[in-house]
Amino acid sequence: MSAVILDGTRIAAEIRAEVAAEAKALSAAGRRPGLAVVLVGHNPASEIYVRGKVKSCEEVGIYSEKHTPAENITTEELLELVMGLNLRDEIDGILVQLPLPFQIDSKKILLAVDPAKDVDGFHPMNVGALSTQRPGLVPCTPAGIMEILRRSQIPVAGQEAVVIGRSDIVGKPTAMLLLNANATVTVCHSKTRDLQDVCRRADLLVAAIGRAGMINRDFVKPGATVIDVGMNKITDRGEFDSLFAGDAKRSESFRLKGSALVGDVHPQVAEVAGAMTPVPGGVGPLTIAMLMSNTVRAARLRRGTHVAELSSV
Ligand code: NDP
Repeated sequence: MSAVILDGTRIAAEIRAEVAAEAKALSAAGRRPGLAVVLVGHNPASEIYVRGKVKSCEEVGIYSEKHTPAENITTEELLELVMGLNLRDEIDGILVQLPLPFQIDSKKILLAVDPAKDVDGFHPMNVGALSTQRPGLVPCTPAGIMEILRRSQIPVAGQEAVVIGRSDIVGKPTAMLLLNANATVTVCHSKTRDLQDVCRRADLLVAAIGRAGMINRDFVKPGATVIDVGMNKITDRGEFDSLFAGDAKRSESFRLKGSALVGDVHPQVAEVAGAMTPVPGGVGPLTIAMLMSNTVRAARLRRGTHVAELSSV
């Protein structure tokens, strides 16, 4: 058996096309959606992510602006910047790129973002809305996972779902979305006993751990759907070979770059799973697509909800 590969790049392109049409309609009505991204300092990974987000905005017709305060900004100064963005009507979404420098009280900053503009879905108001099934903004990566499942016609209701990872950004909101979609959900973490046995019960297995290739075929029930959220950069040739021995294309790329981006799921899982997301090209592309989608949604919600909008959550 060989798993169906769930093509996140294709699904993300589909969502972006839909978002672009909505952004166009809103712009035609004189109200172009707008996103403000705040990037403190010069973290190279964050700079790459932010560049991708700004480029995506341009592609789908969302207005964007980037704020780049210096690394040594204080919590109070950053709060002032966020408050200013909260007050501006043409800004529908505010994204403060994490991680913030050590001197910044990150929780205070995330709490200061107007929940109506919180396109990352991290504000406690939006977390509460998700857990009580009220309209709100849902974190991008978990929302993207649900879109992959929905658009690939993978059933969720009544299924055994196991989520490995309990972070506020990925694991917990993913578990909540699956529960809201009527799956029977188990959340695992580093203290979970008999992890393999628990995972093998899953019809739907979501790995959001941050350990390259940890989930091998022993964790997977034959025919299960496996969603790999992990994004791990490996540079060790031995580790690379233990995952991709025999994959000539990947091997050549590793030789040229000296590194590879790998998920939490071992490639051998393709032999037992019914369907799985690849890394790269699985969950990753959905994260930015859902950020665009959340920005347009925030723009619509801020301009007055109508019944269809409320019931779609
Ligand atoms: P965190 O480090 O915040 O959380 C990792 C979770 O995995 C924790 O709950 C931890 O348990 C659990 N865990 C760690 N080791 C084990 C283990 N041996 N057995 C069982 N559980 C374990 O990471 P994030 O949730 O932020 O991210 C997870 C992965 O997803 C990372 O690789 C990240 O790069 C990637 N990611 C990808 C995105 C995308 O767009 N594709 C977006 C965001 C993240 P405990 O709580 O007990 O410590």
